[in-house]
Formats: sequence, structure tokens, C-alpha cells
Amino acid sequence: MDLPFIANPHGADTVPDLRKEIAQLKNNIIELEKCIFTIQQNCTHVFVEAEGYRKCTKCCKVEVCYY
Ligand SMILES: [Zn+2]
Repeated sequence: MDLPFIANPHGADTVPDLRKEIAQLKNNIIELEKCIFTIQQNCTHVFVEAEGYRKCTKCCKVEVCYY
């Protein structure tokens, strides 16, 4: 199978390799989301109000506002 348009920077070119890579990336995403969650949990928020929501200028946490 020749698919030169799939340029994988990590050199994975078989389906099992790619699946393994996907699994690792998903784990990375989970870890990164945990980092964001921790940062936002520990932030002393400074919110900027916008229409319908407010956003923290420090940790980018968005809260939807219902009036
Ligand atoms: Zn914040």
C-alpha cells in the first residue's frame, strides 16, 4: 500500500502502529485536559464579562451566564 500523502512525523506507517499512536495521543489529551482542569481549579479567576458568558483572563475558563 503506497500512501505517500500520509506524512506521519513519527514514522508510524502500519495500522497497528497508527492505532498505538492514536491511543498514546488520546492519553496525552486526557493528561493535558487534567492539567487545564487543575490550573482552572486553582485559579483566582479574573472574569471579563461578555454577552451570555464570562471568561477568566488568567486561565481562560468560560462560564455561561444565564440572566
Ligand atoms: Zn481563572
